[in-house]
Amino acid sequence: MKDLHLDGNWSESSDGTRSDVLNPFNAEVLCTVAVASPDDVATAVTAARRAFDGGPWRRTSAAERGRILRHVAELLVRDRDELARTESLDTGKTFAEGRIDVDDVTAVFRYYAGLADADAGRVVDAGSGTVVSRIVHEPVGVCALIAPWNYPLLQMSWKVAPALAAGNTLVLKPSEVTPLTTIKLVALLEEAGVPPGVVNLLLGPGQVGAAMTGHPGVDLISFTGGLATGEKIMAAAAKGVRRVALELGGKNPNVVFDDADFDTALDYALAAAFVHSGQVCSAGSRLIVQDGIHDRFVAELAARADRIRLGNGLDPETETGPLVSAEHRAKVERHIADAPAAGAVLRAGGSRPDDPSLRDGFFLRPTVFSECTADMAIVREEVFGPVVTVERFRTETEAVALANDTDYGLAGAVWTSDASRAQRVAGALRHGTVWINDYHPYLPQAEWGGFGKSGIGRELGPSGLDEYRETKHVYHNIAPAPQHWFKG
Ligand code: NAD
Repeated sequence: MKDLHLDGNWSESSDGTRSDVLNPFNAEVLCTVAVASPDDVATAVTAARRAFDGGPWRRTSAAERGRILRHVAELLVRDRDELARTESLDTGKTFAEGRIDVDDVTAVFRYYAGLADADAGRVVDAGSGTVVSRIVHEPVGVCALIAPWNYPLLQMSWKVAPALAAGNTLVLKPSEVTPLTTIKLVALLEEAGVPPGVVNLLLGPGQVGAAMTGHPGVDLISFTGGLATGEKIMAAAAKGVRRVALELGGKNPNVVFDDADFDTALDYALAAAFVHSGQVCSAGSRLIVQDGIHDRFVAELAARADRIRLGNGLDPETETGPLVSAEHRAKVERHIADAPAAGAVLRAGGSRPDDPSLRDGFFLRPTVFSECTADMAIVREEVFGPVVTVERFRTETEAVALANDTDYGLAGAVWTSDASRAQRVAGALRHGTVWINDYHPYLPQAEWGGFGKSGIGRELGPSGLDEYRETKHVYHNIAPAPQHWFKG
């Protein structure tokens, strides 16, 4: 099957290499896909370069680019269920979650369609009636866009929609573990009228990504994934001083005060930790609970975690699916195995489910550890699985100190019925998103990104478009005359 997209053509890998895509529910091979060769990487970047330098795309009016993005949104609506089903098969997430992802992606394309021609720059007062001074925006150039496996369609779309709105040309690489919806997205972009060469698709593992980021024809790298990979990508971007945006991991505090609505906070704490089996960059994997409710909160959390229904993402009864791969589950299991020695107390889960119907999939039971402290590895490191740790606090000052005691800074939440305290704590948290009496919502209009080691730059919102634009000052002297700086 031809599933690379190079210079407007669906292509095999030039060396014929293919790899299996597995269904994490049962480890069966769903299909095979091409693995891009170094030659394919060069072909993709060269095509994107040619399409940028000489092609029509960057001279297309911003309104026309917006129209095409709006068309993409319509096609996403048309293919919603097929995309959701594919995402479920590929990642293990539930079909319902897959639909939510497609709806969110549709909203993101609509948002950037609207923003494409909303801002033509600005006129600056140059202090002279004979000068026209303008600030204009231009595309950056060839963008290498690299995405992870947990939200394949969504994370790629957060990059593709603004990058196209701004007039760039692209080389995409989804995760080798979950490539399928990105292949479909590229087909939809083509159907919507994006010209040949503007969007190129590579598939394959980290080496393919490294070849992309190392290619001198790339002007901008936008990456979502793990911290260790992010550091390599930043180093690659340094060569040639290319722009870089990094959306990395998180270890996100979910702070619950005694005066919060207990049942609501508990309900959201479960979803924050265990939706998509915790494989969410903003997962509320670090619960910080006030003394007065702590013991009851932990007991009820553990009881409810035990009742979460695991299963096939396509089964409507399933509440959460498997982990994405055997390798990833093994990594999460290592974290779980090491935690008790540091003093964490296992309150729920901690093992694979007994259910024989889940035996072949990469399942792990929702896991709760209590008596955790901020110095434990299970509290500091991103586990990226169905594992939540609980820490106890007494005062507001202590809660803020704990919530900020992390290398990351992606997102956090505070639960309280005291509005003043909610605002005080939100103001004090060093995290890119803070939810008050909620968890997980994000908006296409609102910037998303991390403080600290959670990344550099922002996606979504107006800043998400700025990542893909150069800013130019055009200064026009409309009445030029000699200025006689030098007299001779
Ligand atoms: P990963 O870093 O292993 O891989 C991400 C992508 O980078 C994949 O496409 C991979 O093939 C590619 N890659 C690997 N090595 C590379 C290299 N040397 N050069 C270029 N590309 C390379 O991450 P993952 O395991 O796929 O995803 C999970 C991580 O993503 C978690 O840490 C999670 O927190 C993070 N994430 C962050 C956000 C966010 O918005 N901040 C969103 C989703 C996921």
